[in-house]
Amino acid sequence: MDRPRFVIESAEAEQMAKQSGQTVLQLLPSLVKSAQTLARPPISNYHVGAVGMGPSGRIFFGVNLEFPGLPLNQSVHAEQFLITNLFLNAEPRLRYLAVSAAPCGHCRQFLQELRGASDVKILITSSEDEKENKINNNCNDKDQEFTPLSHFLPHRFGPDDLLEKDVPLLLEPHRNGLSFCNDLCNCKINGVDDLKHAAVDAANMSHAPYSGCPSGMALLDVEGKIYKGSYMESAAYNPSLPPAQAALVAYVAGGGGGGYERIVGAVLVEKADAVIKQEHTSRLLLQCISPKCEFKVFHCTKTC
Ligand SMILES: [Zn+2]
Repeated sequence: MDRPRFVIESAEAEQMAKQSGQTVLQLLPSLVKSAQTLARPPISNYHVGAVGMGPSGRIFFGVNLEFPGLPLNQSVHAEQFLITNLFLNAEPRLRYLAVSAAPCGHCRQFLQELRGASDVKILITSSEDEKENKINNNCNDKDQEFTPLSHFLPHRFGPDDLLEKDVPLLLEPHRNGLSFCNDLCNCKINGVDDLKHAAVDAANMSHAPYSGCPSGMALLDVEGKIYKGSYMESAAYNPSLPPAQAALVAYVAGGGGGGYERIVGAVLVEKADAVIKQEHTSRLLLQCISPKCEFKVFHCTKTC
C-alpha cells in the first residue's frame, strides 16, 4: 500500500496540473477528495479535507482527527492540521485553501493567527457553496472562485487586538530562548535524550504570545522515528492547538498511516513556571490513544 502523502512538492504539482490541463491553483479543489480519504474521524465519520498552497508552490493536505474516549475539544480540525503541516514544513504563508466543507467558526478564528489572514483565499468544494462563491465573485473564471477569509469572518478579533505589530505571528520564525532547567540538564535517561532535544526545539518554535507559555512535544514510534509538534495559540484562546495534537499531526502526516498504538514514547517540554500547563491533558490524551506509550515531562526556563 502506498504511504499516505500530505505534501506535494512544487515541481510535481506543476507536472500534475500540466497533465490535467489546469493551473496549479485549479488543481487544489480537485485534490480535496483525496485529502478526505486520509481523515481519521471515528466519532463523526465526517471526513474533512483541506488542501492549501503557500508562496513556495508546494501543496499541503489537512484532515480532521477525532479521539474516542476524550472530550470533543481534543479533536483536530482539518484546517488546523493544514496549518500545522505548513508549520512543520517551514512554509511561511497560506495563500489558497480549498476545503470540503465551510470552515467552522473555530477554524475561521484559528486562521486569524496568520499574517495577512484576511487575504487567505478560500474555496469550498461542496456544490452549494461553489455556486455561492461564483455569485459572490460574479465570475465563472475558476481562479476567481476563491473568496477571501474576510468574507467568511468580517469584524475579526485577532492578534492585532492584543499584540504589538512586531510580534511574530503563526508560521513566522519564533525564537523562544528556552533551555532545560539546571537540575534537569544533567538528567540522563536512556533513550529520551533525542526526544528531549526534539521537544525543546518544538517549544522554541511554539507560538504562544498570549500566555507566554510556549511548549513542545516529541513522539517516538516503534521504528525509532521522532515526530515533533509545537503549541500554537489563538488570540481567542479556545481554538489553540496543544503540543500533543501538533505532534500527532506530524505523526499522521509522516508516520506512514499507522495507528496511534505505534507511538511508544513521548516527551513534553514546557516552562517550569507556566501559567497554563499542557502536562495533564497531554497525559490523558496519550493514555487514551496509546496506553503503553511512556510519557515524560521536562521543564525549561527562558535563558535569552
Ligand atoms: Zn473547523
